[in-house]
Amino acid sequence: MQKIKQLPLHEAQKIAAGEVVERPTNVVKELIENAIDAGATKISVYLEEGGKKLIRVTDNGCGMSPEDAFLCFAQHATSKITTVDDLGTVGTFGFRGEALASIAAVSNVTLTTKEQMSEIDPLAGIQLKLDAGKVVKKEAVSCTSGTDIRVENLFYNVPARQKFLKKKETESRHITQLLHAFCLDYLAIHFTFFQGTKEIINCPAIANNDIISRITQLWDHQFAQQMITIQNSQNTDKITISGAISNHQYFRYDRNNIFLFVNRRWIKSQQLSRALMRGYMNVLPPARYPAACIFIEIDSQEVDINIHPRKEEVQFLHPRTVATTLQNSVKEALEQHLAQQIKQPVNFQTQEQPQRSPSFTPRPFESTKSQTHTTTSFGTTPPVFSENNHKKTTTPTPGDTQQTTIDKKQNSIGTYDQKDIENYNLIGQYKKTYILLERTEGLFIIDQHAVHERILYELFSKRFHDVSTVKLMFPAIVTVSSEDMTTLSGHLEIFKKNGIEIEIFGDNQLVIQSTPVHIKNIKLDELIRKVASWIREYDAVQQDQFFKAINEKMHAQMACKAAIKAGDTLTTEQMKQLLEDFYKIPNRLTCPHGRPTGWLLSIYEIEKRFKRT
Ligand code: ADP
Ligand code: MG
Repeated sequence: MQKIKQLPLHEAQKIAAGEVVERPTNVVKELIENAIDAGATKISVYLEEGGKKLIRVTDNGCGMSPEDAFLCFAQHATSKITTVDDLGTVGTFGFRGEALASIAAVSNVTLTTKEQMSEIDPLAGIQLKLDAGKVVKKEAVSCTSGTDIRVENLFYNVPARQKFLKKKETESRHITQLLHAFCLDYLAIHFTFFQGTKEIINCPAIANNDIISRITQLWDHQFAQQMITIQNSQNTDKITISGAISNHQYFRYDRNNIFLFVNRRWIKSQQLSRALMRGYMNVLPPARYPAACIFIEIDSQEVDINIHPRKEEVQFLHPRTVATTLQNSVKEALEQHLAQQIKQPVNFQTQEQPQRSPSFTPRPFESTKSQTHTTTSFGTTPPVFSENNHKKTTTPTPGDTQQTTIDKKQNSIGTYDQKDIENYNLIGQYKKTYILLERTEGLFIIDQHAVHERILYELFSKRFHDVSTVKLMFPAIVTVSSEDMTTLSGHLEIFKKNGIEIEIFGDNQLVIQSTPVHIKNIKLDELIRKVASWIREYDAVQQDQFFKAINEKMHAQMACKAAIKAGDTLTTEQMKQLLEDFYKIPNRLTCPHGRPTGWLLSIYEIEKRFKRT
């Protein structure tokens, strides 16, 4: 008996539609891409019920002739390529000619469009109404040039798919994220976005490709101030990286503000996100994420955008090179920013200047409530932005009298350099926490824990091959859960490479035979459990990156736990040793968690306070 039947065309189309259109956000993406391909400079998006009831995209692009308006809904109808050979060079978003056909097959579409050149003829516009892909009405209309597409009742004829649509809030959230990506990507386009009657986004075109201005439009001034621009300097002619990333003091609890673009396509890539995070070199606390908007331009031969039906992922020919270039660019941008910040002259003033950027408040020795919201720089409390408080402005309370602002003419906060090593006079320890130094430019205050933590971190990172270890006289036994045991048993060499020799002792027990000399204060059981959780977290990563990630985390943890603490009394000799070590290392401006290691109270500030200037 014959079992194989050919599906009727309309059924096949409904299935094919699922490849391109899974949910409302895919429709919005296809329609916006078409508008961009049509050369639009203004694109508006309207949603009802998270796009389940209505998605409408209007543009002022080239529009379509009545003939093309009919054709555009046909399968494989495209004006963008004619042969498969064109694929390598295609510069437009679309080229498969399947989006409109797919969308129309599973919804009610109304297309109104007019070609730009037919401006003079009032009725040169055409309106088509389609039901499940079939034209049910056509009409000559008078309209402005451009295209207006309404997609209603998505999946009304595919209940199996409709059932899988999420709550309207969830669908809206995806679409909002998508619009953010387009806004960041196409600065010269004016985007507006409405949900019901509510305007969600209104971003007029930005001149000069100024990404920070766009960020200000999309979120707000306060948030944009946390962003620094990035540009890869070690110009490999094959990869260019540009965009903006948040500074080392900002973080979020999710990855929602990380936007990556490859050759102007918004993509999702775990690998690149991780490279971005690595660029922050441990300055972000665990499970905290930066904001970033990164444009990667790469030779089209080096990347395949065709691996994903909705083109959301790409495949690089040399993924590792791309990741490393990104990581280094991020690291460089952060270092440069930090170096600049420290050079920024500061001047204490008593009047409030909340909107000046960046404003400085002296670091509280003990943090108090009134100081927790103050803005930040080298030596101050970082503000923490979370998803919901982008819009929140930070205004000083009346109690904050020590609001300080920049004054370019005044003395500058010093940078560290080689001459600093000879050029200080050690005053002593303050509150068993800070080391005070007299320098030509002023009084330098160093946080003993942050400094030592950075020194140890650099030491562990650079020299974990030859860390000196000690055999424990009484090997320590650590009991772990069976989950941790399973995770750790295959990875004991990670510890070994870091000078910690561990063997399996019993079912759930490990025995520690030796440790590096520097880590005698560390609670090894805690470290071991943490390593187990990192191993699980980074499991999917490529081998060498896996080791790198785990190593970095281990070094930061070991450095933090082994470092001198606030409250430890130091002898003059110990302080001198600490300073000597400190001035030898790179990355000395912050501790591995991003806290500053020290700051300068300039002689100018001091004299001004005493009215000597
Ligand atoms: P593709 O974009 O892959 O070519 P689509 O199905 O998305 O396929 O669109 C088919 C064709 O319809 C496009 O090639 C283009 O010629 C035309 N088109 C679609 N949307 C627009 C628009 N907003 N403005 C002008 N032309 C459009
Ligand atoms: Mg298209």
